[in-house]
Amino acid sequence: AKAEGKGRWLRYRQEHEVRAAERMRLRAALETALPHGEFFLEFQPIVALADGRTVGFEALLRWNHPTRGRLMPGEFIEIAEESQAIVAIGNWALSAAVTAAAAWPHGDARCTPYVSVNVSARQFRAGGFTEHVRQVLAESGLPACRLMLEITETLLLGDDEQVWQDLAELRQTGVRVAIDDFGTGYSALNYLRHIPLDVLKLDRVFTSSLTTSQRQADLVDGIITLAQKMRLDTVAEGVELPGEHDLLRRLGCGYGQGYLFARPMSAEAAGRWATTHAGR
Ligand code: C2E
Ligand code: CA
Ligand code: CA
Ligand code: CA
Repeated sequence: AKAEGKGRWLRYRQEHEVRAAERMRLRAALETALPHGEFFLEFQPIVALADGRTVGFEALLRWNHPTRGRLMPGEFIEIAEESQAIVAIGNWALSAAVTAAAAWPHGDARCTPYVSVNVSARQFRAGGFTEHVRQVLAESGLPACRLMLEITETLLLGDDEQVWQDLAELRQTGVRVAIDDFGTGYSALNYLRHIPLDVLKLDRVFTSSLTTSQRQADLVDGIITLAQKMRLDTVAEGVELPGEHDLLRRLGCGYGQGYLFARPMSAEAAGRWATTHAGR
């Protein structure tokens, strides 16, 4: 039994070392991925639950790794967030998303389809973020109201005056701000009192638990009511089932995103999708 325990321990150690080495290799490869042009974006529709029209798209990062092929953010974002690498990568994603959105047909609509971009706390803390946003918008010609920034609750924790000021400044130019993964972080709700926001993105864990019990449905109902009182639009993430769609709509959730409507797609496909799903 003792030998067996030792064998298991060794296997565990080996697996651990393999994983650590893998992370180190990814960290090194991340440094050159941007200059080598290995990143690209996909766009997932955000849909009005009442009538099914697409109002915008979330930009999602992908990495075309030279040997491992296409990697999803779950495999590398955390590593990029550990260093300053995320700043350059995130700013690239912002610029690429805005450039793509500027090429989408929009009829005579001014603020749709919009593009929603994930922003890391480190991008804010690096300084000059608002100027970067303004410059990217000016170069592309995209109206500010067709850009939404998705930030997480952790960014709003602590009383970081600089972050609040940047957000207020961005909103003054017409850019909208969404709180991402609502309810999954160290929710302090406190920030809702003084941080100017436009949209609350209800995390997928709430959407997927919605139809499992009355208790879960009541919780989501409460969050949507809270959002309405704070005059925030709600976007439910990870809508996969018609039953989730129906219940969300009945609870007053305005918008949804998920495989039920569409998977993330290329910029070109998103442009075509916008034309055929604009409604009216
Ligand atoms: P997120 O912001 O919560 O993005 C939504 C994730 O849910 C995406 O995964 C999307 O593909 C996935 N998803 C959408 N609909 C469904 C559905 O119906 N069912 C299920 N099971 N999943 C669905 P993805 O693309 O792998 O992105 C993962 C996370 O990576 C994102 O989570 C976001 O936090 C981060 N991320 C993505 N792009 C960027 C970026 O440009 N910058 C930064 N800082 N983070 C990014
Ligand atoms: Ca997001
Ligand atoms: Ca999210
Ligand atoms: Ca999420």
